[in-house]
Amino acid sequence: MPEPWAQNTLGLDYRAEAELLGEPTEPIIDVHTHINGGRAAEIWADAASRFGVSMTYTQTVLEEAPAVRDALGDRARFIAIPDYMAEDKKHAFTEGYVERIKIWHGEYGARMLKFWQAPRLRDYMEDQDAIDALALDGPWKRKIVELANELGMMIMTHIADPDTWFTAKYTDVSAYGTKAQQYEPLERMLDEYPQTQWLAAHMGGYPENLEFLSGLLERHDNLSLDTSACKWQVRELSKHPRDKLLAFFNRWKGRILFGSDIVARDEHLVESDDVQYAAGQAACPEQAFELYASRYYALRTMFETDYEGKSPIADPDLAMVEPDKFDEMSSPMLIGKSLPPEILTDMYSHAVGRVVARHYR
Ligand SMILES: [Zn+2]
Repeated sequence: MPEPWAQNTLGLDYRAEAELLGEPTEPIIDVHTHINGGRAAEIWADAASRFGVSMTYTQTVLEEAPAVRDALGDRARFIAIPDYMAEDKKHAFTEGYVERIKIWHGEYGARMLKFWQAPRLRDYMEDQDAIDALALDGPWKRKIVELANELGMMIMTHIADPDTWFTAKYTDVSAYGTKAQQYEPLERMLDEYPQTQWLAAHMGGYPENLEFLSGLLERHDNLSLDTSACKWQVRELSKHPRDKLLAFFNRWKGRILFGSDIVARDEHLVESDDVQYAAGQAACPEQAFELYASRYYALRTMFETDYEGKSPIADPDLAMVEPDKFDEMSSPMLIGKSLPPEILTDMYSHAVGRVVARHYR
């Protein structure tokens, strides 16, 4: 049995667990990953294959795209992202992003682009000009949406963050706004660009509140959600009674797409002090395998089985909110929802075909 660590607190054998889960109802398309590095991409592919994940739409760092394409071939399609690491963030998210979108579209066939609108974006930029340049309903975003429409691309966006972060991190409401306020510019853009398909990552940023998500989906036909950010989804979706979650998935069948948010990097294969961009999450090839496998194990176990027990993935948000009760190795309850096969098939494969794949033809 593997040694317990943050990505496998229960000491599971993820290869054996994959066998026990068996083939999914249909090969799974993971619409939300960040695959980088040739060797890490191969390790991701091994974990993915074992859990029945056949391909992914990846937000890869541009410089890594050739290595990922070589390693994964048809198993990877690309999503355009800005150069998050750039010194000049304002440029990277405005003119620089326009240039990159054209490269992603022309050289790498990307037909989706990402707007990362987490409240902490404000921390990277000092002056009000930069903050305005980045607003989801600001002039630069409108320019980019118009470019996306010209190029036949859809848009993925990250809105808000977990409730836990609004409790513990974004306490300065004058700087970050409330969670509800994060959705105001999104709803304006959904209304003003009804011909554009939008995919809101991480269950639209609100797995805590299914009524809110139903309202959003009801008001905007051009919006879909992905299930990515495994720790967050396991912690919050597990809390909803099965009947309620099943009713939600039934009602919005076709508009909920499977995603994991796995970050794969060659930095995961070696020990290093670098903790930038999730580099510190693993320190050897076997840890990298367990890191990637744990996400597919946890999501499939929650969606497909009646498991009730601890999640095998440590969730630092627990200690962030309640430091007296939890520590860094604490993990939340994972409550299996035994979703019926027709819901699984739609989420794993059919919905992504209708919403996303048609842009990539
Ligand atoms: Zn992501």
